[in-house]
Amino acid sequence: MTFQIYPPLEIPETLAAGPGPGNTDARVLQAFANAGVADHMQGDVLRGMLECKLMLREIWGTKNTYTFGVAGTGWSALDTMFSAVMPGDKVVAFANGTFSGIDALTLRIKAATSQEHAANPLDPKAASVVVVEVPHGEPVTGDIVEKALAQHKPKWAFMAHWETGSGRINDLRGFSDACERHDAMGLVDAVSSLGVDSFSIDDYPGVAGWASCPQKGLCCLPLTYAPVSFTDAYIESLKSSGAYSYVHNPIFEARHWGVVNGQDVEKGTYHRTHSGYAVAAFHEALRLTLQEGLVKRSLAYRTHEKVLRDAVVEMGCEVTSDMPSLVVLNLPPELAGREMELVQNCRARGFGIWPTLSEPVQVRIGILNQLNRQSVSRIIRLFAEALRELGGQVDHEAIEALLESRYGTSIAA
Ligand SMILES: *Cc1c(COP(=O)(O)O)cnc(C)c1O
Repeated sequence: MTFQIYPPLEIPETLAAGPGPGNTDARVLQAFANAGVADHMQGDVLRGMLECKLMLREIWGTKNTYTFGVAGTGWSALDTMFSAVMPGDKVVAFANGTFSGIDALTLRIKAATSQEHAANPLDPKAASVVVVEVPHGEPVTGDIVEKALAQHKPKWAFMAHWETGSGRINDLRGFSDACERHDAMGLVDAVSSLGVDSFSIDDYPGVAGWASCPQKGLCCLPLTYAPVSFTDAYIESLKSSGAYSYVHNPIFEARHWGVVNGQDVEKGTYHRTHSGYAVAAFHEALRLTLQEGLVKRSLAYRTHEKVLRDAVVEMGCEVTSDMPSLVVLNLPPELAGREMELVQNCRARGFGIWPTLSEPVQVRIGILNQLNRQSVSRIIRLFAEALRELGGQVDHEAIEALLESRYGTSIAA
C-alpha cells in the first residue's frame, strides 16, 4: 500500500442554479468564518441557540415549544420528524416525486416490523404503510388526501409541501383539514418551502410535525441546522411510544436548545457537540430572513420565477412546475433526449443546473437567493447559450427584449 498527501483541496466558486443548495448568503459565510473557537457549552454558543429557537418560531409562525434545529441536512430533520413512527403504526404517505418517494421509504423503514425488515432490508414492505402514488408532475390534492384518510384511518399522514423533484406545490390546506377530520397526525416535508413561501404553521392544526433544511430557502450552509417543529400532540405521542433513536429523538435534542419538559429554560444542556460555527451561520441566516421579511421575499420569488419561466418558454421549452423557486422544464422538441448532455455542459462551466433525479428526465433551474435582475438575467443568458450550443434555435434579441420589458422600469431590484 502506498499513500500520498494530496495537495490542498480547492473548490471553485460556482453558480448554484438548481433546486438546492442555494447560494449561501455572503453574510452567512462571514458569520461562519468569523466565529471563534468555542465549545458547545460556551455561553455565547448556548445563547445563540436560544435566540435561533426564538427566531425560528417567528419565521415559522408557531407557538410550538418544540421548534429547533437538527444538526445536518433536510434528511436529518425528516429522520427526526419520522422518529415517532413505530413498527406497526398505520401510516398513509402521499408520494409525487423523488423526495416524497424517499420520505415514503423512510416511513416504511420506521413502521416495518423486524420480520418485514429481514424479508427486504433495504426496501421493507411495511404492511401498515399505504403509499398513495401521484404521478410525477401532478400535485397531491385535498381530494386525494381526503379519500385515502377516510378509507384507511391512519395514525400518521405524510405529504411534501413542495415536491422539489417535479417542482409541484401540494395542497397543504386540504392535507391539514383532512388530517383534522380523520384524527390523523400530519407530518410535512417543508424542506423546499421554508424561507421561500410566506406561511404560518399554526394555521395548519392538522399537521403535528414539520421538517425543513438549512440550505434552500434559508440561504444557510448545508450541514448546519435543519429546522423542525412539533405540536404538543406529537410530543405526547412520542412520550408514550418512545423512539428508536437517541440523537434524533426530539425530546432529547430539544434540551440543548433550552426546552425541557415542554418548557423553555434559560440554558441548554448537553445533547451532542454542537458547532459554534454552525450556530453562528444559522443565527445570521435567520436574522437575514427576518430582516427581509417572508412576505416580501415570497413576492420576489414569484416575480423573478415568472421572468425565468417566460424566458425559457420564449426559448421553446415547456414548463411543468409551479414552485416559485424552481422551474422544471422539457427541452424544445428538437432537443428532447439531450437533457443530461445539456446539464453536464452547463455544470462543466460552473453553471449548476440539475436534471430530475427520477423519471421522466427533465431540466431543473432554480433561483434560490438570486432575487435580482442581474442574477436572473445571468441565469437566463447562460441557459440560452447552452441551448444554442446544442443546436437549439434561440432568439437572443427576443430574450433581451423580454428582460428589458420586465426589468426595465419597476422591479430593477
Ligand atoms: C432537498 C430536499 C430534501 C433533502 O434535503 P437534504 O438537505 O438534501 O437532506 C428532502 N425533501 C425535499 C422536498 C427536498 O427539496
